Amino acid sequence: MLGWSINLFKVFGIQLAVHASFVLLLAYYGYEGWVEDGVTGLCWSVGMIVLFFVCVILHELGHSLTARRYGVRTSRILLMPIGGMAELDQIPRKPSAELLITAAGPAVNFAIVALLLPFAWHGVFSDEEVALYSAGGLAIQLCVANLIMGCFNLVPVFPMDGGRIFRALLAIRLPYLRATYWAVMVGRVLAVLFAGAAFYRGNNLLGVLFIFIFFAGAAEYRATLRREEEEAYWVEMARRATLVTPVDGEPPLLIHGPN
Ligand SMILES: [Zn+2]
Repeated sequence: MLGWSINLFKVFGIQLAVHASFVLLLAYYGYEGWVEDGVTGLCWSVGMIVLFFVCVILHELGHSLTARRYGVRTSRILLMPIGGMAELDQIPRKPSAELLITAAGPAVNFAIVALLLPFAWHGVFSDEEVALYSAGGLAIQLCVANLIMGCFNLVPVFPMDGGRIFRALLAIRLPYLRATYWAVMVGRVLAVLFAGAAFYRGNNLLGVLFIFIFFAGAAEYRATLRREEEEAYWVEMARRATLVTPVDGEPPLLIHGPN
């Protein structure tokens, strides 16, 4: 499914790609705008979606460029109708690194809100009526969208940003696997509650999104568990192997110690 993507251009050396279904999203909103207000409506709707996704790209760049400071490469940033995803080569296990990389995304959204707030403020409180197709109206919509994006991502449902921040905080005190386990468990309970609330309120798309997150959290826990088991295996192998110091210039021998 994730393979159906179209490569666009590179930003800061990172490949930007859009999922094929993104075209459907543009077509849907473009059509809605056109039905409402002809060509003006179409241009405004498509423009809003593009600007909204520019904010999503900036959010993902926040993660990617902070990760780069820790030597972690981002293979690409993928845009999907439900949001964006920075595909990092690995998540650093150092809690402070994971904390900063993760927090950088929502921080970008709040920075955009702070930048747009004076324009939005002017739009809301000026005497002139804020028309839909105006700079003030645009500032208000983008402000609200970024505020929602920043806050929504901070919900502690692993592997969303908030869940990762929660895992990093737990990992300061707990072993990495235990911290992941608890972050996933708390995330799963919250995901079920949020999905239930979303379906109850008739927001089926949000409900499905939380179900998707529920399974994504479990998958990442299994991956972490497998990596831990592999590492433990190699540590045990290294412990059992005894390096014998060479005598008379013979090459070193690697033999197995007692079981
Ligand atoms: Zn994020």
